[in-house]
Amino acid sequence: MRYESTRGSEHKVTASCAVLRGIAEDKGLYVPERIPAPFLKPSLLKMFAEMTYPELARKLLPALLTDYNANEIDRCVRGAYESGKFSAPEVAPVRKAGDAFFLELYHGRTAAFKDMALSILPYLLTEAVAKQGETDTICILTATSGDTGKAALEGFADVPGTEICVFYPETGVSEVQKRQMITQEGANTHVFGIRGNFDDAQTGVKKMFTDPTFASELKAKGYKFSSANSINIGRLVPQIVYYVWAYSQLVFHGAIHPGDPINFVVPTGNFGNILAGWYAKQLSLPVRKFICASNENKVLTDFLNTGVYDIKDRPFRVTTSPSMDILISSNLERLLYHLSGNDGGEIRRLMTALETEKRYEVSERIRAGLADFAGGFADMTATEETIRRYWENDGYLMDTHTAVAASVYDAYRKETGDRTPAVIVSTASPYKFAEAVSRAIGLPPRESGFAAVTALAEATRVPVPAGLRGLDRKDVRHPGVCDVSAMAEAVRTALK
Ligand SMILES: *Cc1c(COP(=O)(O)O)cnc(C)c1O
Repeated sequence: MRYESTRGSEHKVTASCAVLRGIAEDKGLYVPERIPAPFLKPSLLKMFAEMTYPELARKLLPALLTDYNANEIDRCVRGAYESGKFSAPEVAPVRKAGDAFFLELYHGRTAAFKDMALSILPYLLTEAVAKQGETDTICILTATSGDTGKAALEGFADVPGTEICVFYPETGVSEVQKRQMITQEGANTHVFGIRGNFDDAQTGVKKMFTDPTFASELKAKGYKFSSANSINIGRLVPQIVYYVWAYSQLVFHGAIHPGDPINFVVPTGNFGNILAGWYAKQLSLPVRKFICASNENKVLTDFLNTGVYDIKDRPFRVTTSPSMDILISSNLERLLYHLSGNDGGEIRRLMTALETEKRYEVSERIRAGLADFAGGFADMTATEETIRRYWENDGYLMDTHTAVAASVYDAYRKETGDRTPAVIVSTASPYKFAEAVSRAIGLPPRESGFAAVTALAEATRVPVPAGLRGLDRKDVRHPGVCDVSAMAEAVRTALK
């Protein structure tokens, strides 16, 4: 099984080649040429219920990473999930609170769900380098809305044969998120704030990626670009595992029988997480609905309701769930490609329209395929109200992103009466967004994000993740800030 571009060029590549390149040469995203189905039959799901997370990963990853052999997959899984990088013994615990199950994906080193994939990506990439006989140094270019950057830095720090450059919106991330990035250690790490928002950072990075002149300039110095963003299939494929895992955990705990349908609620920004769930459904995981939850940047809610993706005159809002402050959701392109019947020409037209007219409308055929999704959004008031309600009623503390999802789910349940068991994908530790979470549960304001972490821990007794302790006392190693127009120059300086 090979990977092809969403923009229609004929060229197909192996999984390891797609991981190495990150993005296709025609600026499209790599997708599997076909999906191996039906794969997840009820008998298999029953068996999965007895497995650990790493065991499940070993079973599932080869279905989509077909040119990695069992030994290579085993090395990757061991390095990522069996070497003490996750503080929870289950890797991703599932807990019940209110009317839903919460799939906690934030027990990795940087306390956000990005660790699930970014702890394995460096291993997948290192194996890919060896398989492809690559001799250049791989330079990972990463745009971040706050969490990807730190998880990628942590994953790639001091990995031989790699350099990593991260761009984050200087005023668009939480204090804890920023501090996590600018204190990053490792001789191959480079971090820059940009004067702009996440969309600017992502557009700038994609531009560098697909600029042939810049690529040959760096090639001459022995560098080749790749990506740690969810445009890289090496990010997406490992995320499929935890959807199957969550399902298996519900079977294990007797909440469902193998074959019963469930719903997933996903706090969404770049559409990577929820798309991995959709791939799991294509592998025949029994999912009824994917509920796509947005914050006030609700372009996806409107798109799912109307079939029109419109960012014209839509203001970019900085919210208390900054990792979802995104208007151009990259991975939607992949879904549209599959739903169009692999029509690269149509996707090229839609993406060109988005660039030039800032909007596009999809065909009836694509719209029909969107029926797997329901869209909803929560504003900052509803988000904080949800945090408070779950804390007071269930003693369950959640972060602002997860609360957007919980809020959208509660509204969805009321509106539709849908009582299908639901899993809310829980994407970050509440401590990463301590100021907003503290305010939500009624604590007085503190002088800094770090003082809020301490106060929140004292008030709730929920343990602070190891990676966030003592962060305010660490040395700043990456103070640099640049304009969007100077991103390429920043990379040049970093790679001198
Ligand atoms: C990245 C992120 C999201 C959004 O995930 P996408 O894959 O970009 O849709 C949601 N919540 C948190 C905490 C994140 O870090």
